[in-house]
Amino acid sequence: MVSRIIPVDPFDLVIFGGTGDLARRKILPGLYHRFCAGQMPEDARIIGAARSEMDDKGYRKMIGEALDEFIPHTKREAERVKLFLERLHYTPIDAKGDGGWKTLKKLVRADVVQAFYFSVGPALFGDLATRLHEHEIATPESRIVVEKPFGRDLESARALNKVLADSFDEHQIYRIDHYLGKETVQNLMAVRFANVLFEPLWNAQYIDHVQITVSETVGVEGRGAYYDKSGAMRDMVQNHLMQLLCLTAMEPPSKFDPDAVRDEKLKVIRALDEVPTENIVRGQYAADDEQESYIAHSENPASRTESFIAMKVDISNWRWKGTPFYLRTGKRLRARMSEIVIQFKETPHSIFGEDAGSHANVLVIRLQPDEGIDLRVTIKEPGPGGMRLIDVPLDMTFADALGPEGEDVPDAYERLIMDVIRGNQTLFMRGDEVEAAWRWTDPIIDGWQSRGDRPTQYEPGSSGPEDALMLLHRDGRRWREIKA
Ligand code: NAP
Repeated sequence: MVSRIIPVDPFDLVIFGGTGDLARRKILPGLYHRFCAGQMPEDARIIGAARSEMDDKGYRKMIGEALDEFIPHTKREAERVKLFLERLHYTPIDAKGDGGWKTLKKLVRADVVQAFYFSVGPALFGDLATRLHEHEIATPESRIVVEKPFGRDLESARALNKVLADSFDEHQIYRIDHYLGKETVQNLMAVRFANVLFEPLWNAQYIDHVQITVSETVGVEGRGAYYDKSGAMRDMVQNHLMQLLCLTAMEPPSKFDPDAVRDEKLKVIRALDEVPTENIVRGQYAADDEQESYIAHSENPASRTESFIAMKVDISNWRWKGTPFYLRTGKRLRARMSEIVIQFKETPHSIFGEDAGSHANVLVIRLQPDEGIDLRVTIKEPGPGGMRLIDVPLDMTFADALGPEGEDVPDAYERLIMDVIRGNQTLFMRGDEVEAAWRWTDPIIDGWQSRGDRPTQYEPGSSGPEDALMLLHRDGRRWREIKA
């Protein structure tokens, strides 16, 4: 297979919070991979900026150590690391004060693509946007990349959109959701809209239901204070699961262009029904012999924050009326996995009689651990003995199907950062989309808060509270098992 890596235009990428966890763990290792893939032009520069006093040399040392820590040694070559680190610069800056901004202005070139990555806490997003504008560093074509969380409710998201809009146009704002950068998520669009096979069946007439699961094995250790104010609904459903739901449920956009795709996603969010209490299950993980409970990491011993949520969501439009979407996400579960399951209906009539059992096609879009798409089809069980049917997988694990290139698909962060440099907003959330998602989320959270609902305790290493299983059982359905 011929490699089709296309270098991007020369750029200056300023990473505010360039010394932080996200920058060291994801952003800079991702940029190193793109550098090795030959995607970074000669004169591309990366400029770290944070309050810590440091020079270029100190920053290169810090990031060199981060690359050692976060990139497997088989993917690190000393010579390449050295060349990559030479692209790095550092300038101290205070988002809340005026220190450092004049130096940054001198450092950033006006004749290349300028991108400013806000890898800092959300409380600083407004300060950064305002100062970039006031110090006349940003041009009308500069891009800013904003990390999650984007607000904690509709009101705060609106305020954030407004403060960014005071200094930047919507076409300059890249609200990142790394789930959208995953290869499989984009493949979901390719599968739907580049094949005639699926789209005619992609509706309530042929699809029984959809399941979206994002399951983690980690708990909240170290992040208890943050998580307690957030919970699974704000931290995962409002953004990641919502985006996956939108891409699964949206109408075909007229073209693969940022606004065409985002318009369709927005229509899905607007068509979501309110979710009645009986369709929501919230859980909080208990302790077991080896691990501490959620509460042990919370600052509030009576915390009612959910570390697990499962819900049945209905979409009121012609395509989906009657086909529920079941969403489920949680921490400290049995395995780390994310998948979208399209459960098709059974054939309207079986010509094979009762002995053949009941069968239905299933399309599984796996986001992790190994990204791929798996279609289960029903065939005759080989051998004599009449017509017995079995379900077999038509598996397309990218690493298997695409050979060595399939293994080297860029990580979500790498792809999204390169999209920022290219000026392609298709895989980033638009301001109105984020607000619409909060508009749907807020009453759900308000509901359980005003009732004072407590989440149900669940066993660590399980698939969540029993009630979550019941959510499907009562509809005559079952979750796909959580397994790695
Ligand atoms: P972090 O480790 O706490 O890093 C924060 C960075 O901001 C540091 O470089 C810090 O450096 C800098 N900073 C703090 N105050 C500043 C100020 N007044 N002016 C300039 N720089 C300042 O946080 P993080 O985990 O990297 O997260 C960054 C953002 O990404 C957050 O919005 C977070 O929610 C989001 N995020 C993180 C992850 C992750 O895996 N870590 C995942 C998804 C989203 P100094 O102290 O030297 O100034």
